[in-house]
Amino acid sequence: MQSTMMNMPLNITSVMNFADKVYPNVEVVSITADNPRHRYTYKDAFARVRKLANALAKLGAKQGDVIGTLAWNDYRHLELYYAISCSGMVCHTVNPRLFDEQIDYIINHAEDQWVFIDVAFVGTLERLQDKLSGVKGYVILTDEAHMPETSLNNVHCYETLLAGESDQFDWPELDENSASAICYTSGTTGNPKGVVYSHRSTILHCYASSLPDAFGLSRNDITMPIVPMFHVNGWGLVYSAPMSGVKLVMPGPKMGDGETLCELINSEKITCSAGVPTVWLALLQYLEKSGKTIDTLNRVTVGGSACPLSIFDAFRDNYNVIVQHAWGMTEMSPLGTYNRVNDDAHEKMSKEEFDTHRLRQGRPICGVDLRIVDADGKELPWDGESSGAVQVRGPFITERYHKLDTGGAEDGWFETGDVAFMDQDSLMQITDRTKDVIKSGGEWISSIELENCAVDHPKIAEAAVIGVSHPKWTERPLLVAVVKEGEDISKEEMLDWFDGKVAKWWIPADCVFVDDLPHTATGKLSKKDLRDDYQNFQWS
Ligand code: ADP
Repeated sequence: MQSTMMNMPLNITSVMNFADKVYPNVEVVSITADNPRHRYTYKDAFARVRKLANALAKLGAKQGDVIGTLAWNDYRHLELYYAISCSGMVCHTVNPRLFDEQIDYIINHAEDQWVFIDVAFVGTLERLQDKLSGVKGYVILTDEAHMPETSLNNVHCYETLLAGESDQFDWPELDENSASAICYTSGTTGNPKGVVYSHRSTILHCYASSLPDAFGLSRNDITMPIVPMFHVNGWGLVYSAPMSGVKLVMPGPKMGDGETLCELINSEKITCSAGVPTVWLALLQYLEKSGKTIDTLNRVTVGGSACPLSIFDAFRDNYNVIVQHAWGMTEMSPLGTYNRVNDDAHEKMSKEEFDTHRLRQGRPICGVDLRIVDADGKELPWDGESSGAVQVRGPFITERYHKLDTGGAEDGWFETGDVAFMDQDSLMQITDRTKDVIKSGGEWISSIELENCAVDHPKIAEAAVIGVSHPKWTERPLLVAVVKEGEDISKEEMLDWFDGKVAKWWIPADCVFVDDLPHTATGKLSKKDLRDDYQNFQWS
């Protein structure tokens, strides 16, 4: 029997039209290079989105074309997201922190026709433009007064393009399975790989990630995603904020600046935010130094890499902010699991139980079917100890990579490359990346757990643990750590810190202090570089 329901496609245009009609007066606030505080409403935003759609058509861009962006989080980038996808084109958010050769590779691989760029990234594209033969022209995201001198060919000013356009536009009917956006993984090994989102996958991810036990967005919230819009659509918040009538605050180029983040939280009355652990360290360090508080903020979502306990504690004990741990990846749109700890959990549990509980990466969100398998592909029980490879499937998880024959979902399950166990409460605990696991004497050691333990030391700013080959044990863990400014710590004090906190045989066999650790373009520790650097490390 057929249903009696209307057959209307799930598309981003409907979110836009909904917010335009239902939440016209909700604000969008940004910092840009040319304006320290830009402020308008969703109604203003979507009127400009329609002007931009007219401008894109005038540039000759057609349905199916890929349009690139190299930009920070701000209102013009938001306009691009909607105008491009709702016109039936594909928004390719390029990560400006990638190396030149990766930027060149992905713009060519995705076949970008036009690239919209912040003034700050003009130099990058000037260096690369000779290699970008498919790009028809560039649009600089500013007004005439701030247009830089540039050697880019066929270059336009964004505000001038919009100025002459009508704010009326007939949006095309779009197939819900058509591509809306493309995002490349950072490619720590080999070339970056493209994940193409559809209108349908984007909308379903928005619904699932907005549920109360995930981002839990409501009309009462004011959010400031500190995750870049070039990284998995700002974790989808660029779509889910308008969907829930949430005021959106975007820090532009000031994303890593603790003082600006603190000022924005207080002046715009932000209630919730999301980002990787490193950005929180910058904010917490600023708060500690300045003695300022962040009274309106009630929760932050931390994901992208494992969140150390010290971040949970600093937020809760000093600022009354709850940290919620989440896990996901580019290939999953990105949210896979979310840990919204019950309000009364800390009263019912001992401190150790509570800490263990809140550190977990969380429960799968509805729409993510998740399983843990052993080396033979056999599904493992959710018993709090059986650890194995994490596989997922669902309507907002990629089946394959753009224009690649290898990788993606074999047997219908996507191999995440993470190693984890599930506990009896259906909470996932990631123990490692498949390629970062340390194998010592035939047993696995979790590098993440050791890193978390190391950064909980009050003198340590950042730490990485890698497996280095060892004549007797195959591999032993080596700790590479950055000491906090003004602090001093001996090797012995560092290694003694692990005593009683992890199994004896897990304790790193040695430790090196360095000024900096290598990071990937998305700000994560680059263990591959570290493994290369220390492959010939001599154990004492
Ligand atoms: P890339 O860094 O290649 O761009 P993603 O940002 O998509 O890729 O990273 C996804 C990976 O990040 C996951 O597979 C996992 O290893 C790691 N990750 C994400 N969130 C967490 C978390 N909360 N705890 C531990 N690891 C995480």
